[in-house]
Amino acid sequence: MLNYLTQVIAGPTPQSEPLFGRGSEMVLNSAGGFVFPVDDWKRMERFLILGAEGGSYYASERKLALENAEATLRAIEADGLRAIRLIVKVSDGGRAPKNDPALFALALAASAGDDRTKRAAFRALPIVARTGTHLFRFAEYVDSMRGWGRGLRSAVADWYLSRSVSERAYQMAKYRQREGWSHRDLLRLAHPKAEGARDALFGWATQGRLDAAVWPELRLLEGYEKARTAATAREAATLIRDYELTREMIPTQFLQSPEVWEALFDRMPLTALIRNLATLTRVGLMAPLSATARAAAERLGDAEALRKARVHPIAVLAALRTYAAGKGVRGSGEWAPVPTVVDALDRAFYRAFENAPATGKRFYLALDVSGSMGYGEIAGVPGLTPRVAAAAMAMTIARTEPQYTFGAFAHEMQRLSIRATDSLEQALETTDGLPFGATDASLPMLAALEQGLQVDAFVVLTDSETWFGRMHPVEALRRYRDKTGIPAKLVVVAMVSNGFTIADPNDAGMLDVVGFDTATPQVMADFAAE
Ligand code: CA
Repeated sequence: MLNYLTQVIAGPTPQSEPLFGRGSEMVLNSAGGFVFPVDDWKRMERFLILGAEGGSYYASERKLALENAEATLRAIEADGLRAIRLIVKVSDGGRAPKNDPALFALALAASAGDDRTKRAAFRALPIVARTGTHLFRFAEYVDSMRGWGRGLRSAVADWYLSRSVSERAYQMAKYRQREGWSHRDLLRLAHPKAEGARDALFGWATQGRLDAAVWPELRLLEGYEKARTAATAREAATLIRDYELTREMIPTQFLQSPEVWEALFDRMPLTALIRNLATLTRVGLMAPLSATARAAAERLGDAEALRKARVHPIAVLAALRTYAAGKGVRGSGEWAPVPTVVDALDRAFYRAFENAPATGKRFYLALDVSGSMGYGEIAGVPGLTPRVAAAAMAMTIARTEPQYTFGAFAHEMQRLSIRATDSLEQALETTDGLPFGATDASLPMLAALEQGLQVDAFVVLTDSETWFGRMHPVEALRRYRDKTGIPAKLVVVAMVSNGFTIADPNDAGMLDVVGFDTATPQVMADFAAE
């Protein structure tokens, strides 16, 4: 006789079927397993932070972007002002590795939102589009979505009228054109009305005339124009020092000169320093034991400066991987990495997150290393698959918490021998070296039970494309809680911007966060400490 109680209601339920009584709440993921869907707000947040670059194992870049755009659109239609608050929070807070998704979502709100939403989107433009490049990117997006009506034109005009004249001159000289747009194009569309130095700045951008002598705020432009006609690298270096020019303002023929880089180095913005470490080393300026290497390491160690410059951990990780490799991805020469600079990047990765204090809880850090996690690129960083990125993300907890253990799962548990004292490169390499397999996200909880581990919080870094298991991850967690008496929590760290989660939204002991949100370690710590 069929035992209805044990075989139907009491579980376990294979992942290829929905949990008993939850069929209407669960959805089939791309791998053929039943999981919970995330709502449009959560999906939009995942998109703002993770983007859709490189797509995923299951979706092309275009398909993933389209799904995310649709979820974002639904969020905008449901509550436009809330959507804009979310865009501003992620963008202005420096929480995402790239600003493109935020600019795209803002353009969407400025095009498809109701009147109130559009006005709020226009007001948010100077906050979300902080650089000239951001503005051009926004223009490119919005141009494909709507016409250049009065509201949009005056929003762009406001961008040019916001901030001090010298700040705007800096952005306009640094980024003169991108994405097929120039300041001349946008100024002609928007027609901002200004007087004095600002009017002179607009005149320079549209007609190329400059009367810098009259306007001290425009001194930078005078330097910029002089650099364009500089005859020698020495002359360019002198101009860089005299006028505080940046790399973007220097003709490319001078960018192989150590003298020019030495001049640039002194006032180089932190984000530029991180991007140019390889070049500084290649031209011979940054050598072991050099003053330059020491200064660079010091600057990378300044947590406050990292935050102020909105340096994202992913940008640091990308720089670390490239720099430590000693050769460019696109064949841009070779260099001998300076060890102290590599160390400084390693430390800067952790400092670029919001500072989360240790909770003292017992953490089980479970990395999904299945086949699907080996596809796609986080924030377009070559080789930074969700699989290896998960290791970097998990290291933020291992470095903070006194009690942690690592586990890696595919269709079975795998031994993952990394620890907090490992360098990021080591941790990533070790993870990268594990075999691939099918996915069963219930394994970490079952393994902890089998090994008799006392766990307060399971942190599962995954794309939630689990399908292989004989029970659902939430069933495994409940079994763990029942058998151990520990009210263990589950944090799901989304590593792909899809719409799935293994966390039960009705269970207050489960939480969804987004991988590589700079706020994530703090949110996880708060949740674990509750
Ligand atoms: Ca998988």
